[in-house]
Amino acid sequence: MPDLRPISSLDWRGFDGDPAGILIFRNAKVLDPRTGVDGAHDLVVRDGEVAELTAPGAADVAGAETIDAEGLSVYPAFFDPHVHLRTPGREDEEDIETGSRAAAAGGFCGVLAMANTEPPVDTAADISALRERAREQAAVPVGFFACVTRGMEGRELSEMAELAESGAVGFSDDGLPITSARVMRRALRYQRLAGLPVALHEEDPELSAGGSIHEGVVSATLGIAGIPSISESTMIARDAQIAAYEEARIHVQHLSARESVSTVEVAKAAGVEISCEATPHHLTLTDEELRSLDSRFKMNPPLRAEADRQALIEGLRSGAIDCIATDHAPHSSEEKEVPVEEAAFGVIGLETAFSVIYTELVLPGVLELGTVVERLSGGAEPLGFLAPRIEPGAEANLVLVDTKAEWEAGAEGWDSRSDNSCFAGRRLRGRVLMTVAAGRVAYRQRSFALGVAS
Ligand SMILES: [Zn+2]
Ligand SMILES: [Zn+2]
Repeated sequence: MPDLRPISSLDWRGFDGDPAGILIFRNAKVLDPRTGVDGAHDLVVRDGEVAELTAPGAADVAGAETIDAEGLSVYPAFFDPHVHLRTPGREDEEDIETGSRAAAAGGFCGVLAMANTEPPVDTAADISALRERAREQAAVPVGFFACVTRGMEGRELSEMAELAESGAVGFSDDGLPITSARVMRRALRYQRLAGLPVALHEEDPELSAGGSIHEGVVSATLGIAGIPSISESTMIARDAQIAAYEEARIHVQHLSARESVSTVEVAKAAGVEISCEATPHHLTLTDEELRSLDSRFKMNPPLRAEADRQALIEGLRSGAIDCIATDHAPHSSEEKEVPVEEAAFGVIGLETAFSVIYTELVLPGVLELGTVVERLSGGAEPLGFLAPRIEPGAEANLVLVDTKAEWEAGAEGWDSRSDNSCFAGRRLRGRVLMTVAAGRVAYRQRSFALGVAS
């Protein structure tokens, strides 16, 4: 593992007019499983850092903005290693400004954007242009992946050294698998030399071609071509072995199948450097949703069966799955409001991630809150960044949450430019009120009363 970088080393516009002043979260329920903090505290943010963690009511700093956080919770902010910001090329669906605003609204202090744009991000000039735009527009720190292969064609490696030099955070052809084992091997040789992460969308197109939804009872009943779980797990097994052989490190994206979880477990037990993620939709929904023929439930990998969902939950609990990632994938209504077979794959997810997991898995007692909080920022370290922590001296990456608040997803609109959420209309518990990213206030919920200067 190379040296981990602070989240503030990513590009963003800094702050939105809020002075980088002193903040006190007064009497908040502070929870950070990494540092073991769990209880009522005053938390002081100064000079972009967590400056103090005192007994409730004890912090007293002149000129500070005091936020009455009694009954509210403060966690390390979330970090999403897998989002699609659709820039360049599909700014009608999302851009850096709207996508990063959605991230801030969801409690994320940093996101990493995939390279399957139009055209794909595969030159140093592309990376430089995106980074410059992020410095002007991004509401939270944003990093940019570059393609593993030129034009995402799966044949020739991109200029990986040059792309790394220009500030790409890693390499991924996400959206498409790398089907050639020879190309994968060469990419992982480079990974080992250069250290930057390689993130993999695992799918064997020979097995998945033509499929729209999970291959199982529902696809058979509906007569819709299926995508079998083994199209994912067999490729993970192949790439884990190539990574082991080349002593390289891989990050597997959006695990969906129980065979994939066990494949990752076996690889980890054998000492392979492999990390992986699961999405809120795969953790909380199954292919039963497709009986409605609603295209909002169509994504790749597809929603799978209940046994798969249970395996993902167990993997998240045990740590076999390192992190929750949204795979936030905005699409225009023209691409989604069509029959299932014709609809584009993908759902947005940044603004609902915490609330969905909290409502569906924490409140019913399926997962512990601490586990969820840890996994929601668990993508930072495997991708090369310091995980957000709550302890004096740490960069302030914090989220303020009202776990009692109820809201209807999408009722007040979305910060994302697209509205293809598979959770729209659901009553959710737990609302992000404020996000502090790299020491600056990146987001305040509209209905949340501002603190007062003391
Ligand atoms: Zn993917
Ligand atoms: Zn993706």
